Amino acid sequence: MRSEILVLGGGPAGLAAAIGARRSGAEVRLVERYGFLGGTATSGIYGSLCGFYTSGPQQIQVVKGIADEMLQLLRSRDSLLGPVRSDPMVVLLYDHQTLKLVLDHMVLDAGVELMLHSTVTGVKREGEEIKSVVVSTKSGPIELEGEIFVDATGDADVTALANVPYEKDVNTMQPGSMMFKISNVETEEVIPLILSGELRELIKEANDSKEYKIPREDGNLIPLPHQGEFVVGFSRVSVDGTDVYSLTKAELEGRRQVEECLRFLKERVPGFKNAYISEIALQVGIRESRRVRGEYVLTEKDVLSGAKFDDAVACCAWPIERHLRDTRSTDIRTLEGDEWYQIPYRCCLPLGVKNLLVAGRCISTTPEAQASTRVIAPSMAVGEACGIAAAMCVREKLSPRELNVQELQKELRDRGAFL
Ligand SMILES: Cc1cc2nc3c(=O)[nH]c(=O)nc-3n(C[C@H](O)[C@H](O)[C@H](O)COP(=O)(O)OP(=O)(O)OC[C@H]3O[C@@H](n4cnc5c(N)ncnc54)[C@H](O)[C@@H]3O)c2cc1C
Repeated sequence: MRSEILVLGGGPAGLAAAIGARRSGAEVRLVERYGFLGGTATSGIYGSLCGFYTSGPQQIQVVKGIADEMLQLLRSRDSLLGPVRSDPMVVLLYDHQTLKLVLDHMVLDAGVELMLHSTVTGVKREGEEIKSVVVSTKSGPIELEGEIFVDATGDADVTALANVPYEKDVNTMQPGSMMFKISNVETEEVIPLILSGELRELIKEANDSKEYKIPREDGNLIPLPHQGEFVVGFSRVSVDGTDVYSLTKAELEGRRQVEECLRFLKERVPGFKNAYISEIALQVGIRESRRVRGEYVLTEKDVLSGAKFDDAVACCAWPIERHLRDTRSTDIRTLEGDEWYQIPYRCCLPLGVKNLLVAGRCISTTPEAQASTRVIAPSMAVGEACGIAAAMCVREKLSPRELNVQELQKELRDRGAFL
């Protein structure tokens, strides 16, 4: 089977890439291992969409385009709230199940060929070019050929299978978390505890008493658009998301933490007496794994100084939010006021291969910068840019490295992207 563009991974980055490429007139196939789209934004149970707004008083929206269309569709289904301040950041609150429905519409309306239940397990490469990927499916292995490939697997699986350089440090990488949704909560009793900081005091007291072990003392409860529902973000699990043995251990430990957090909430926090678990994340959430080594490596300084680039293709204002291994806290460093930084096209161009683009949480960054670029809004903005770039390359018979970035930027702006 052949397509002009193959997008591998149907998370926020991949689906924006596929829609962007298709709207530019290319034939696009989007390949996803699960039976639905959205990646961790739908499977992880997060409750908040991060990275759309600056953190200062003006709350400037710095990600628009396809990501903004998604917001409007969620809002039209009463499944989006905000922007709201979750100090020091600004987020939107959403219903992740409705998001699954919205994303089906967006991808199908654009005319993308969708292949669900298909996991990329092999890459065929000749010299500096990828010729095809092999996907494992219930129908057996299937080979998919393409001209341009976009790796949006989060873990840079395609990059790794193609023997393209990447970085991964299991000793420093951010821990994952097992998120869950809790329902039948007395919302009016709980919101003041969150706003006053009393919830964190209660977690600390519980841990100090030695009767409970809550992994994150700065953990959060995120109210969902539907009454009485919250996402619980108290878990922290050391995990290498590219190692099946580590993943197995992490799933079990994550669910053990879910039970412990539920016990704490019901026994120690007002408003949770009659609450119950209504959903546990499909899998343990992976914040960081492989980071592709690209033409440019975005740094902590770039993020915090609000760096701007001639070849910028996306903007982001999310702070460095680095979850720390073996601790109960998180390193959060915000940009000044309403400042934002830009993400250069070069971060999507892996070294040593001609026809591969990378989008989402595995683009070329340092670990500190990744702790900012990894969230949903910038992943979508970079994805859209990669998709449009891929389509322009097909049209003009160029490799992504040869593309005129000013033309890409013009097309992005014409489509409503914030640059
Ligand atoms: C615990 C946790 C909480 C978070 N909370 C928030 C939050 O509140 N707000 C926010 O904005 N961000 C949050 N994030 C970050 C954010 O969700 C992700 O980093 C973001 O979704 C990255 O998008 P992505 O498309 O790069 O990757 P992903 O969302 O991981 O999507 C990758 C997609 O590729 C598919 N895939 C993977 N491998 C293959 C393969 N080999 N073949 C085929 N398909 C494959 C996956 O199934 C998935 O659909 C959180 C992350 C974690 C771990």
